[in-house]
Amino acid sequence: MPPAATPQTAPDTFGFVFDNSYARDLEGFYVEWQGAAAPEPEILRFNDSLARELGLNPDALNTPEGAAILAGAVAPAGAAPLAMAYAGHQFGGFSPQLGDGRALLLGEVIDRNGNRRDIHLKGSGRTPFSRGGDGKAVLGPVLREYLMGEAMYALGIPTTRALAATATGANVMRDGGPQPGAVLARVAASHLRVGTFQFFAARGETDNLRRLLDYAVARHAPELAHAPDAAPDVQMYVPMAYIRHTVNLQAKLVAQWMSVGFVHGVMNTDNMALSGETIDYGPCAFMDAYDPATVFSSIDRQGRYAYENQTGIARWNLARLAETLLDFISPDEEEAIRLASAEIDAFGAVYEAEWLALMRAKLGLTTAEDGDFALAHNLLKSMEGQGADFTNSFRALADILQGDSGALRAQFTNPDDARDWQNDWQSRLARDPIDPEKRAAAMNRVNPIYIPRNHLVEAALDAATKGNMAPFDALLAVLMDPFTKRDGLDAYAAPAPDSFGNYRTFCGT
Ligand code: AMP
Ligand code: MG
Repeated sequence: MPPAATPQTAPDTFGFVFDNSYARDLEGFYVEWQGAAAPEPEILRFNDSLARELGLNPDALNTPEGAAILAGAVAPAGAAPLAMAYAGHQFGGFSPQLGDGRALLLGEVIDRNGNRRDIHLKGSGRTPFSRGGDGKAVLGPVLREYLMGEAMYALGIPTTRALAATATGANVMRDGGPQPGAVLARVAASHLRVGTFQFFAARGETDNLRRLLDYAVARHAPELAHAPDAAPDVQMYVPMAYIRHTVNLQAKLVAQWMSVGFVHGVMNTDNMALSGETIDYGPCAFMDAYDPATVFSSIDRQGRYAYENQTGIARWNLARLAETLLDFISPDEEEAIRLASAEIDAFGAVYEAEWLALMRAKLGLTTAEDGDFALAHNLLKSMEGQGADFTNSFRALADILQGDSGALRAQFTNPDDARDWQNDWQSRLARDPIDPEKRAAAMNRVNPIYIPRNHLVEAALDAATKGNMAPFDALLAVLMDPFTKRDGLDAYAAPAPDSFGNYRTFCGT
């Protein structure tokens, strides 16, 4: 039974100009819904520059009236709040019905750059998709998603972003007892996921799948909507091209994650966004010491989503997407599988090319040689087991060029083990003659010095849940400019002290 209509605000006050294509074009793919009442909504952090980018009015929205909207309790004029249907493979097991169990799509706006963006509220109460859950989110994980998403944005990695973190004023029961409830207002190029396709495929709803494909193409790859005259088979062109497009986006995204030591932690198919943005910052974290087997999530006991498995998992998820489109590729199932598999198999080459390009930049190379892949790979190999901090080892390379010849070795437990690699690298640089200062500057623009260090993230969230936002604000400010070394920020560039121990993260519901 849907709740009564959401109270709506007067038009225009907040600057929302909604154009709700998902609600309009995909009836039957969602349930119209409204957020739960919030007793005392209070905006804790508001993303002013993102609000402006969306064409919103920060002065009107960052107010008590705006807080009621951002908590989901009141819908702004023109919004069409809805809970989206989706399915998903979670840790390899298929759930035919997940859906927005604690979130609502408030609506879509066209931003200042002409891009369509979803405004979505996470933690806004129960929906018909909630199953056993309470539909709520708590403050710590909401602020964590805010911080991690902004950090990724500043690193230049495609991501959803936080518009606001709003306390609801109600407590939510979690394992450890009552915790302050909060809602994250999240902005994304869309909330279509691999799991959205899986939802309709699992139900055998071919017509709806086709509508979804057409919608996804129009929204994320409009250039594919019409087969070129040269296409050998017009019928199969769009689904094949869409798979190829998505394979490209994901291969490039995961290469970027790998290049900064990011572990997403819960790469279920419902958490793979078709926009190519990083989405759902539950148990994610950046590694300190390089170890390809790194896993942070407490529920990922098999290490399915370990750092080194992320490429294989992305490819596996894309195969699940391709499976949903087989009927559109060819009436002959074997032929369809053969064609779709070829698209999925392209993942490896796209990923490798992207990874190599990123690594060349990180190593300061402006030219390409066949041996560069091995050079990059050998650096990582030599770091393994040495306690070498991922971020600081790459950052050290430019320091070497600037006269600190031992900077990389200082990262190694056995500094001599770094010497061979450093010699190989410097011989390679000799064949890539550019001004060392220019090279170092270019390297420092791609090798961050400040990443969200786990111990600092935890300390900031801990203080925030006790009412002190200062450490969160300080950390966020540092992370918004991750490439420029500033005085007085050494503590933000240091790995966790040994006393911090093995880091474990939680899905944060
Ligand atoms: P996530 O782990 O956030 O990607 O969510 C996976 C699925 O569980 C989605 O269908 C969510 O809507 C649902 N879910 C997660 N937490 C809750 C909650 N507290 N209440 C209701 N549904 C939830
Ligand atoms: Mg999710």
